[in-house]
Amino acid sequence: MPIHEKSLIREENISVQEELSIDGVDVSGHWSTFIEPRVVSDYNEELEEEISALPGGEYIHRCWQCGSCTNSCTVNAIDPEFNPRFWIYLIRTGMEEELLRDKERIWQCVSCNQCTYACPRDVFPEGVMKATAHWLELKGHTPKSPSMVFDEIFTEQVIATGKIEEGRTLRRFLERTSQPLIQDWIIDMGKKLLAHLPIAMLTKMGIGSVFAPRTRGWTKASEAIQEYQDEQQARHRKALKIEELITMAEHELTNQER
Ligand code: SF4
Ligand code: SF4
Repeated sequence: MPIHEKSLIREENISVQEELSIDGVDVSGHWSTFIEPRVVSDYNEELEEEISALPGGEYIHRCWQCGSCTNSCTVNAIDPEFNPRFWIYLIRTGMEEELLRDKERIWQCVSCNQCTYACPRDVFPEGVMKATAHWLELKGHTPKSPSMVFDEIFTEQVIATGKIEEGRTLRRFLERTSQPLIQDWIIDMGKKLLAHLPIAMLTKMGIGSVFAPRTRGWTKASEAIQEYQDEQQARHRKALKIEELITMAEHELTNQER
C-alpha cells in the first residue's frame, strides 16, 4: 500500500545524506531525502466497526477528511500533533498500530465541541474522540481516565438514588482516584460555600452527602436503567470481542508458565 498520508512517515524512516554527489551533481542535505520503505501488515479490518459500536462513534463513516475538525480544534492550537482528522483516517483504514502511537494524546480532548460545530458531515468528531478513548480503555491500551471514573460514579449514584449529591460524588471520585480528601482547592471552595450559601442549604447538602437519600418510588426506574446499562456494556464488549481477548491472554499466560 503506498503512503498517502504525510503523518504516516516515521521520523526514523527518513534519511538525509549531508554530503552526497550523484553523477557529479551535488544532492547534499534536503535534496537527498530518502524514505525507507515499510510494510503495514497488521491492519485491524474491524477497527471502524469497533469504534462505531461505542457511544459517540456512530457517524465516523460519514467523514470525508476535509480537516475542518482539526482546523477548529482547541487542543490542536496548542499541540499540532493532536489531530482528530488524522485519527479518524487511521480508524477508517484500520491502522491500529499507528493509532496506538498517539494513545497518550487522544484522551486529551477537552470536549469543547468546536469540531462538532465545524464538521460539514455531522460526524460528531468530539463523540469519535470519546469513543476512541473508551476503546483504548476497554482494550487495555490505557488505564481508566479520571473522566471515565467520574462518569461511572455519577451514573452509579443516579441509578442507586435518582439524585446527585455533589459532596458524595466528589468524595467518591477522590477516593477512587487515590487523591487526598483534603486539598487546598477543596478548602478554598468550602470557605466560599460557607460564605455564600444559606445554612439550610449547606445542612441539606451535608446530610445528603452522608446518608444519600433516594427519590421516592425510584426502584423500578433504577432497575430499568441498570438493565439498559448492562445491555449496552455487554453489546460494547461483544463488539470489541473483549471476552475472546481475555481468553487469549489467559491461554498465553498458561503457555508461558508451562
Ligand atoms: S471536542 Fe476535542 S477534538 Fe473537538 S475541538 Fe474540542 S478538543 Fe478538539
Ligand atoms: S470536519 Fe467532519 S468531515 Fe471533516 S475531517 Fe473532520 S470529521 Fe471528517
